Amino acid sequence: MKIRQITPNVFVDTESSEPPYGHGSNPSFVVTSAGIVMVDAAMLPTRAMKWKSEIAGRGEVRYIINTEQHLDHVAGNYFFPGTVVSHQGVRAALRGPLEHIRAFEPALLGQARSLSLREYVLWQYSQWDPEGLALAKDYQPRLPELTFSDRLTLYLGDTVFELFHLPGHTPSQVGVYVPRERVVFTGDNFGNAIQPSLAQCCPLEWVRSLKFIEGLDVDHVVPGHGLVGNKADVREFAAFIQGVIDTVTGLIRQGRSKEEAMNAVSFESRLLARHPGNEQQRMNVARLYDVLSKKACADGAPGTMKTSF
Ligand SMILES: [Zn+2]
Repeated sequence: MKIRQITPNVFVDTESSEPPYGHGSNPSFVVTSAGIVMVDAAMLPTRAMKWKSEIAGRGEVRYIINTEQHLDHVAGNYFFPGTVVSHQGVRAALRGPLEHIRAFEPALLGQARSLSLREYVLWQYSQWDPEGLALAKDYQPRLPELTFSDRLTLYLGDTVFELFHLPGHTPSQVGVYVPRERVVFTGDNFGNAIQPSLAQCCPLEWVRSLKFIEGLDVDHVVPGHGLVGNKADVREFAAFIQGVIDTVTGLIRQGRSKEEAMNAVSFESRLLARHPGNEQQRMNVARLYDVLSKKACADGAPGTMKTSF
C-alpha cells in the first residue's frame, strides 16, 4: 500500500496508478473531527481490506463520495460503512444496463447485457483478485443513498466539503473541493499524465469543468488516475482534451464519416492511455464524433443532463 499523506488530513492511495498499472482508481480519505470522508473506494476486495485496517485507527467512515459510476470508483463501496453520496446520474447509471457504467467493445456488448451488476463485479474480481473473491461472497452493489443534481455542501465536524457536478469524463462527474485542506478531488476529469477513457465523455463540458477546477483555491489536485498534481498539470491535461476536440472537429468539418475518423486518428501518441489499444481509441473517437457532430452531449444515457454552470 502506498497511501500518501498530502495535507494534514488528506490521504491518497495512488498505487493502482503507478507502473505496473493496477486495477482501481486513486481512493482517498479525509480525516475530520467527526469521522472520515472517503472519496471513491478501493475497488478490489483484498485492497479494500488493507484500506479498512489503514483507516481503523483514524476514525469512523461517515461518508463515501463517488466521483463517477465506473467500477474502479464505486465497486468497493460494499466493503465500507458510511453513507454513499454522489450525483443523481451516478445512481441512475448504476441502476441501468451495464453499458451505462462502461462503454463496452462491440464484441463484448452482448455478453455484458446478460449480466447483472453484481455478476459483472464478481466476474471482474475473479479475473483481477481471485484470492479476494471469498471476501465478496455476499457482495451486493452499494448505490449512492444521498444524491444531488447541481451542488451539495457537506459539513462534517471541522471540515466543509463542496461537491460540484462537473460533467466531462462522464456526464455525471463529481468534483470534491475541500477548502480547509486546499485540495480538490477530480475523479477521472483529470488524469495526471494518463489518458482516461473518452468513450462516455462530454468533451465541451469537460473543458469548462477543467477551467472551473483551475479556478479553485487549491494547492493539490487529486486525479482519478496518476499522481497527485497541481493546477499546472490540470492545464496541461485540459490542452490534451482541447486537442482531441479540435482534431475530431476538423475531421467532421472535412466531411469525413465516423468510420473514416475512427480509422484516421489515435490519441495514444499524445498521452499514455489507461486503456491502451486500437479498439479503445476507436471507441474514444466514435464518442467524440457523435457528440461533437450533434454539438451536445445527449445520448439518452442516465446522467446526460444540463450542466450546472
Ligand atoms: Zn477511473
